[in-house]
Amino acid sequence: MEPTSLRNSAPPGRRLAFFTYLTIVILSAMAAAVPSAVQYGPKFLTLPFTFWLMLALACAADFRPFNATGPRQSVAVFPSICFAFAALLMWGLPAAVLIQTCATSVFAWRTRHSAWRGLFNISQYTLALTFAFGVLSLGPKIPLRDGTIDRHQVVLILLACAGWFATSHVLVATAVWLRFGGTWRQSLTTAIGSEGLAAFALLLLGPFLVAAAQVSGWLIPLIVAPLYAVYRVAGLSEDHERLSLLDPLTGLANRKALFTAVEDAITELRELPFDSQDRRLALVVLDLDRFKQVNDALGHAVGDRLLIEVGRRLATCVPADALVARLGGDEFAVLAPRITAQDTARDLARTVAKALADPVRLDGMPLDVASSIGIAVYPEHGDDFTTLLRHADVAMYDAKTRGDTIAVYKPESDHNSPARLGLLGDLRRSLETPGFGEVALYYQPQVDMGTGEVVGVEALLRWRHPVRGLVSPEELIKVAEHSGVMRLLTCRVIDEALAQLARWAEGGMRLRAAINVSVRDLHTTELVDYLAGRLAEYNVSADQIQLEITEGALMADPRRVLTTLQRLDRLGVALSLDDFGTGYSSLQHLRRLPLSEVKIDRSFVLGMSTDEDDASIVRSIIELAGALGLRVVAEGVEDERTWRWLVAHGCHVAQGWFYARPMPADELPRWLAKYRPPMLLRAVPNHPEAAS
Ligand code: C2E
Ligand code: MG
Ligand code: MG
Repeated sequence: MEPTSLRNSAPPGRRLAFFTYLTIVILSAMAAAVPSAVQYGPKFLTLPFTFWLMLALACAADFRPFNATGPRQSVAVFPSICFAFAALLMWGLPAAVLIQTCATSVFAWRTRHSAWRGLFNISQYTLALTFAFGVLSLGPKIPLRDGTIDRHQVVLILLACAGWFATSHVLVATAVWLRFGGTWRQSLTTAIGSEGLAAFALLLLGPFLVAAAQVSGWLIPLIVAPLYAVYRVAGLSEDHERLSLLDPLTGLANRKALFTAVEDAITELRELPFDSQDRRLALVVLDLDRFKQVNDALGHAVGDRLLIEVGRRLATCVPADALVARLGGDEFAVLAPRITAQDTARDLARTVAKALADPVRLDGMPLDVASSIGIAVYPEHGDDFTTLLRHADVAMYDAKTRGDTIAVYKPESDHNSPARLGLLGDLRRSLETPGFGEVALYYQPQVDMGTGEVVGVEALLRWRHPVRGLVSPEELIKVAEHSGVMRLLTCRVIDEALAQLARWAEGGMRLRAAINVSVRDLHTTELVDYLAGRLAEYNVSADQIQLEITEGALMADPRRVLTTLQRLDRLGVALSLDDFGTGYSSLQHLRRLPLSEVKIDRSFVLGMSTDEDDASIVRSIIELAGALGLRVVAEGVEDERTWRWLVAHGCHVAQGWFYARPMPADELPRWLAKYRPPMLLRAVPNHPEAAS
């Protein structure tokens, strides 16, 4: 519903132009109508009963006219116009203007329109009737007092209707444009079809009223039935139009409405002068972090109530000119149509985050609805709705993976840039077509610090792109992770690693392999079935496999993968938390998830010998892992000093260039044959295997 403050006023910056225009329209209407009304003078008193009946019906009909929503409240679906048009045909302009003025005044009084709105409506109708009368006057015998209408007059009547509608529509569209902004063309074309149809349907009832009046004035009230039909159809189509733009659950705008609003706002911004301060708009997208759990645990009815409350909070916390929409599921968006800088968008996002920070109480139960928020700004991050929405989504996922609440779009986080899509295509081809580039695994030994023995290897992906050469696995994973190619890639890695373990076993080498998987691989339990199948096929025991999942990705939404982790655990496959220290693990999750190992991120291990903070982090991770009964692995051990320090501090396993770089599978047996454990061997405290 249009707020009262807007209904009867115009925004400050537009007032002068708007009210000047209004004054011109009102004065023109007076100039057109007053002289003929004065001339008509006493004839008003001689008008027949039929005229007064029509006037009464027009007022009654407009007492509750079809009330269109939105800025264009002056749309032409006022039933009174058919009576005014009939009066125009029968008794001339002053009689028609009188009917229209009375009916419009009734409407203005009933809807509490300000005086200027009422006057403007009366004036635009007066001018429309004047124009129509001018067209009709081109032919003879107007007014049609004898009630005969020949074919020439039918053509003139049609032209007069067109003239009426054109005048009214242009006058109203210009007022809307001056009052609400946008482009004049846009304002002119908005709803032109439906308004034109309704206006023609009503105006063309006019000649039938004329014909009916010739037979008997008592036929006139029968017009109420077709009028009611026009009214209902217009109402239904308006309802349909309105509902198609609303989200039925929350009553907020839906994706379609947001699309229109963003595209309109962009058109408006494009027309602003280049030095204008607020030539930006922000699209803020958010989704609730734990909505799925609420839905699963408490049922959809509670989930729905939660969404309604979130919608309410959003709608009340944003500025008046912002539009809140629900995109579907637990995804919402806020459009800030005019901002001066990206920081304003950040402030808006902070307000939104704050509004959602307090738990929602449903049936006395507090539900935590924290959200991740992504921001895309026009024109920096896109110049149409689709691009802005996609980029705001990318930013939102970026925020989620980093454990942040708010992120502004950065092209680096976009997995869909043309270069990345090209790489993804090539990767898919190389996975599906043998010979197109080479996907291979390198293996890096892992050494027990207590015994110096090689306890396993980590399988690391290598891809030689036919043109680009070696592509870093990190870049590759980033590209593949958000697509179906990730599943293909993980399956290939698992298959390859297990086949290799089987080959080594044939040669008498029983090794354990750590395989990296993406957290997305764990969203379904498909991976467990695949792994179980491969283990059986290659006759490899489950305890020879360990899956590594990076801490940041796992802890972003641990519950989502819990079922898969539990099934892997039951299968006997150990789980390792990779790059530990870079994510945000809660101790509760560390205790509850079926993990057997943490791998200290190599950035801390690499910095340890020079940075006291890094050394403290490594020390506390070793202590924490010891307290939780988890094996602790240090990766990135490059030198003897680091190795000694780690041995002294009770780290269980190490991996790094100090021992060996990742190597192709066929080099490993040679390396193993030559390998001699480093000399310092000490009992390692807290070693889980020592404890048992
Ligand atoms: P990660 O799992 O933490 O793997 C360890 C990374 O440290 C490897 O980088 C390894 O080559 C490197 N590294 C090992 N020792 C040292 C050292 O002493 N010094 C230094 N500077 N680096 C060392 P890489 O092979 O480039 O792999 C990078 C990341 O890509 C991996 O980190 C892992 O997260 C991901 N990745 C690799 N292969 C796969 C895979 O098959 N699947 C998935 N999902 N991710 C993979
Ligand atoms: Mg790893
Ligand atoms: Mg790592």
